[in-house]
Amino acid sequence: MSFKELKAERDVKGKQSILKQTEDEQQMQKDEENQGSDDLYELKGTNLRLGTSTLGGRGLFTQTDAKPGTRLLSVRPHIHAVSARFLEDNCTLCTSEENVRRCTRCKKVAYCSTECQTADWGIHKQECQSLRRWAEASGSDSTPADSIRAISRLLWMRNIKGADSIWWRQIAAMQSNREHLSSSTQESYTHLAQSLVLYMKIESPEGLREYGIESGKDLVDLMSKFTTNSFTLTSTFLNAIGVATAPIPALINHSCQPNAVVVFPATRKGAPPTLDVIAIQPIRRGEEVLAAYVDITLPREIRQKSLKETYAFECSCTLCKLPGTLDLRECVFCPKCNEGFLSSHKGQSAPCSKCGATLSVSQGVRERIRLGTEGLEKAEKLQWQDPEQALRLTTNLNTLLAPDLPPTSHPRLALMRLNHTLLLERLNLDPKESNGPSCSSLLDTAIKLGTQIVAALVDLLPHGHPTRCVAIAALARLLRVDEDQDQSKEDENSPTNTFPPHGYQRLVLAKETLLRALAEVNIGLPGGALFEAIRRLLDDTERELAVFKRGVRNAQANAVAAAKG
Ligand SMILES: [Zn+2]
Ligand SMILES: [Zn+2]
Ligand SMILES: [Zn+2]
Ligand SMILES: [Zn+2]
Repeated sequence: MSFKELKAERDVKGKQSILKQTEDEQQMQKDEENQGSDDLYELKGTNLRLGTSTLGGRGLFTQTDAKPGTRLLSVRPHIHAVSARFLEDNCTLCTSEENVRRCTRCKKVAYCSTECQTADWGIHKQECQSLRRWAEASGSDSTPADSIRAISRLLWMRNIKGADSIWWRQIAAMQSNREHLSSSTQESYTHLAQSLVLYMKIESPEGLREYGIESGKDLVDLMSKFTTNSFTLTSTFLNAIGVATAPIPALINHSCQPNAVVVFPATRKGAPPTLDVIAIQPIRRGEEVLAAYVDITLPREIRQKSLKETYAFECSCTLCKLPGTLDLRECVFCPKCNEGFLSSHKGQSAPCSKCGATLSVSQGVRERIRLGTEGLEKAEKLQWQDPEQALRLTTNLNTLLAPDLPPTSHPRLALMRLNHTLLLERLNLDPKESNGPSCSSLLDTAIKLGTQIVAALVDLLPHGHPTRCVAIAALARLLRVDEDQDQSKEDENSPTNTFPPHGYQRLVLAKETLLRALAEVNIGLPGGALFEAIRRLLDDTERELAVFKRGVRNAQANAVAAAKG
């Protein structure tokens, strides 16, 4: 290498390192700016810090290594609202279902105690009037949309806390996607804004200014901020019961392969819900915490669509990228070998995962997938108005899709999960009836289906994922439902080739499943009501197993004594 070349190379390297240096400096500067807002976000004393995400914008990062099951953050949401469907059954303040009574004035919201009612009164005294006005004006028993009730609560609380409070400044600093919204989303937000103004009885621009809203643009911003930064409020058993807004956890960015989850496992009666961020994968010090904004059992096209619509971004995680590889969320059984899978993703023709045949998915199968997808949408709407019909529809569609689609594939898994939920409701509806022969076969059907769902979720989700936890726990509980007398009489030595097994063998299976649930719940939903419920059920099961064994031993001893005598 000549001197000239050497110099030229050094110049380039020098330039590169200067560039690198400026990049690093910029990064540090960005981080410092963000650190400044650490005060706003009250992250001191937690394992998290604010930083600049490689995905763009801000993100939360861990300060030490975190094992799966580690609680990274625990906060009270700024605001939460119970869904209209659950207003009657769940305490508006603490979400408990015990001893709830409706507010005598509006007859809409309910509380479990005077303590909860008093604690909520600051907001509810205004809400109570609005709810009554809304019902009168609509001439029916209607309740405004959940988002309207939640945003109005946010605004009433702003005026209680003050516009200068950290509480409101955190809300004000939430990200809005107003400038990137599709025209249909813009339109729906404008519509929501109109309803909100009506509901809160804001009659002039001055009225809006009382809540710090200067223009229509501000109002759409607020809708976008709320939608983008809210979480589904869930019961301790992971049922969706409302919506919650929490600015700090909302700083967490999305991945379809998340290392953390946002859950409400430890909510207690008498106190507002607690939102926990839990690590479900090992997270190294300094790594970004990522949670999924959408259901990650869904195929990429559906995930991408809802991320685009609600959050205005395109996900580029490894699960969304995966070119040419088979995704169990969108595949069909290979018609040649019947064992392997073919991708049903349009425009992807990967060979069969087992026999290697390159086949395209037939028109007939595509048609059945289309029918299943449409039917799923219909059943989701029907489930509240006519659960019986929704149950029949999902049962039929699952039967239709079973020969073509493995249980991991969409829409089969979604249909199976809805079908299972409806079956469980049916089993719970009439506990007396559960002794009849039809219900014992219903119970067996639910156990078989629950087993298939667990297997599918295990294929799709990481160990300890809350959805997995709840599915395993539900299966374990089903295995503990009392069986028919004549079926459970079978003893320890009965054949085990039927599924689900009966009697002693079923108890053994229940114990195994409970232990499995306990281990996973300890990761995804630690320290909550579900963990306690499973632990108690496990104790009962172990006691019953011991009685069973003693009974068999006594019977044997008696038989021996009788033979001797
Ligand atoms: Zn309560
Ligand atoms: Zn009321
Ligand atoms: Zn993704
Ligand atoms: Zn094959």
